[in-house]
Amino acid sequence: MLDIKITKTTEPKQKPAADQPLGFGKIFTDHMFIMNYTEGQGWHDPRIVPFQNISLSPAAMVYHYGQEMFEGLKAYKSENDEVYLFRPDMNAKRTNVTNDRLCIPNIPEEDFVQAVKAVVDIDRDWIPTAPGTSLYVRPFIIATDEFLGVAPSHTYMFMIILAPSGAYYSSGLAPVGIWIEDEYVRAVRGGMGFAKTGGNYAASLIGQVKAHNEDYSQVLWLDGVERKYIEEVGSMNIFFKIDGKVVTPALNGSILPGITRNSTIQLCKSWGYDVEERKISVDELVEAQKNGKLEEVFGTGTAAVISPVGKLRYVDDVMLINNGEIGELSQKLYDTMTGIQYGKLDDPFGWRVSV
Ligand SMILES: *Cc1c(COP(=O)(O)O)cnc(C)c1O
Repeated sequence: MLDIKITKTTEPKQKPAADQPLGFGKIFTDHMFIMNYTEGQGWHDPRIVPFQNISLSPAAMVYHYGQEMFEGLKAYKSENDEVYLFRPDMNAKRTNVTNDRLCIPNIPEEDFVQAVKAVVDIDRDWIPTAPGTSLYVRPFIIATDEFLGVAPSHTYMFMIILAPSGAYYSSGLAPVGIWIEDEYVRAVRGGMGFAKTGGNYAASLIGQVKAHNEDYSQVLWLDGVERKYIEEVGSMNIFFKIDGKVVTPALNGSILPGITRNSTIQLCKSWGYDVEERKISVDELVEAQKNGKLEEVFGTGTAAVISPVGKLRYVDDVMLINNGEIGELSQKLYDTMTGIQYGKLDDPFGWRVSV
């Protein structure tokens, strides 16, 4: 158990109006959680303080070699004003998987969850309630030694900030166009593709810019070695419904193990679908599409939950999926997952955690 010291703000900010468009990650609440790590002492001084700038030496290691990690989850408010998190224990576990890869010290899972709950609780009045809105929770760790050498830091900061965020879709689930990138790659096996760390995103920006320039909203990455097998989308995992079966790339070390991915697999299996986690070549997709067997494509991730894909581009092939419309399974997954998250549906898997 952390002994969290709480300093409440004396100057609460104006909360966004109920009908104000929130966007994503632009507005922050009144408080934040901070905890420090010092070698020999471990994690110490857990505290909640007013949201404020932090001061670090320009030589702080995080600025130079990118030793950092982050997580992302959401807090949801039900119609009866209950506050829920969705599987925060999974974010705690993944934090330590990422930490191990980046030589960052572990955080006990129960401390991670306690810290998230504590800071969400303090700012629970900031959780928006318009349909599809939520409070985005961003835990992260940075290396803070004042040192330009390349080595793991001896000191770190763990912080949690909160951002009220708008509905990902303003007018219902809208299928997106996806660019299959055939030049740049995001990650390779043995690298850090499975870890939630900024460097992976830095590597992905150029593909994102390229896709946007061609009017596609997201990039689908291929494997880093043969550039032949499907990996994942920028910040989402990817699923295909091929000839009645649900197929998704197997976790191979270069793919981020999404919590929404895991939940999607469990739900599909519970509904009687065959779910295959395996290698999927881009050629297989092109072929399935030509034969009319590529029935649905959708991305999964905390931000969008389910993001139907209406169009897939690979070199000279532009594949229209399900006539550019939302598939039945995509819609059912979205309705079920959000129903559980907002406390509207039963929670047979025990995924909801009250705050
Ligand atoms: C966070 C993330 C995902 C989705 O994970 P969820 O736990 O479902 O939100 C997928 N891909 C990448 C690269 C990510 O960073």
